[in-house]
Amino acid sequence: MTKQTAKDDKPRIPTKVRIPIVKPYTPRPSEISSAISEILDTGMLTNGKFVSRFEGKVAEFLQVEHAVAVSSCTSGLIMTMKTLDLSGEIIVPSFTFSATGHACYWAGLEPVFVDCDLRDWTISIQACRKALSSKTRAVLAVHTFGNPAAVDALSEFASDNDLELVFDSAHAFGSLYQDRRVGFGGHAEVFSLTPTKIITAGEGGIIATNDAHLAAELRIFRNYGDDGSYDCRFVGFNGRMPEFNALLGLATLEHADEEVKARNSLAAIYREHLSGLPGITLQEIYPGNVSSYKDFTILVDEALFGVTRDRLSDFLADRGVATKKYFDPPLHRQSAYRSRVFRKTDLPVTEYMCTRTLTLPMYSSLKASEVQHICNLIKLCHQSEIMETRKRPSDASEH
Ligand SMILES: *Cc1c(COP(=O)(O)O)cnc(C)c1O
Repeated sequence: MTKQTAKDDKPRIPTKVRIPIVKPYTPRPSEISSAISEILDTGMLTNGKFVSRFEGKVAEFLQVEHAVAVSSCTSGLIMTMKTLDLSGEIIVPSFTFSATGHACYWAGLEPVFVDCDLRDWTISIQACRKALSSKTRAVLAVHTFGNPAAVDALSEFASDNDLELVFDSAHAFGSLYQDRRVGFGGHAEVFSLTPTKIITAGEGGIIATNDAHLAAELRIFRNYGDDGSYDCRFVGFNGRMPEFNALLGLATLEHADEEVKARNSLAAIYREHLSGLPGITLQEIYPGNVSSYKDFTILVDEALFGVTRDRLSDFLADRGVATKKYFDPPLHRQSAYRSRVFRKTDLPVTEYMCTRTLTLPMYSSLKASEVQHICNLIKLCHQSEIMETRKRPSDASEH
């Protein structure tokens, strides 16, 4: 037997990308050119009116009392957890983006990774219960792919156990939880404004909270801990958002409702064509909730679909369709955390899902016909594999 060459486990990049995985909405230059001139002419590059205007509009959009604009979602999460003055363990899902865990680390907390729910793919309350210890201080939940986590159940769990609750809402700008805009949950919800998210400021984050004291402290934190007196009250850092970025944020915020609406229409097409396919499972969005569809992700079960997630990804890549294997590896399997000593919990759903989930293209400028085309390719991949399997025995009997 010849030695199998090491399989290149890097995702295959389509040789010629016809349909990218993500395409951020950006305003036309003419829409913001006069404001850019104003920033340049006045020299107010930071701490100016565009950041405060952006904060006001975001607070209005999210229907929260305070929105604090910061340099990133990661820095916003760190500042929030630091301001809540937590130490000890924090319960976090493993099936998420790396920054969720990193923020806990930089806030001086020990992440305890827990499982997600097999239906809605967000943090599992049962897993949270099992992970409780005398050192648990907080829960950091994630609205995975834009699907709202169980905000009410998590709030109840947190208050019953005297824990702080914070949301990594990087994916959930414009999502609805029980007909209400995501952003009101827990002590604070932190949104990301990188180009892969629903609205973008190039880079940036927004902390949404109804706690006036927390908001005031965060504004000092993002300014080195200096409240304006120059005598720093505590050790903060520079977590500010520049004016240019706020300007971009303002322009993309105008488009937020349309962005989410368009994504939901495209998701409906994906769902219509893929939900009946053997071996394909979709994330369940509960009645009353609306996902922002930051991502549209499918779960591919090889036993029924006939093809592994990785082969489907290559099949699509070869035909110019880009995909991502979110979140593989999940946090507890990443090098940064594997070697660290952290309390282990059972993660059977995460282990099952991480090798089977595939994120498909999703953005408002994606055409319905392109979604249809991607669905056809997925069906074709499934059918050609079924044909192959049927062909094999007859091939053998041919001679
Ligand atoms: C993108 C993302 C982040 C990080 O956001 P930044 O603004 O880049 O810091 C955090 N958590 C999740 C779940 C994300 O997808």
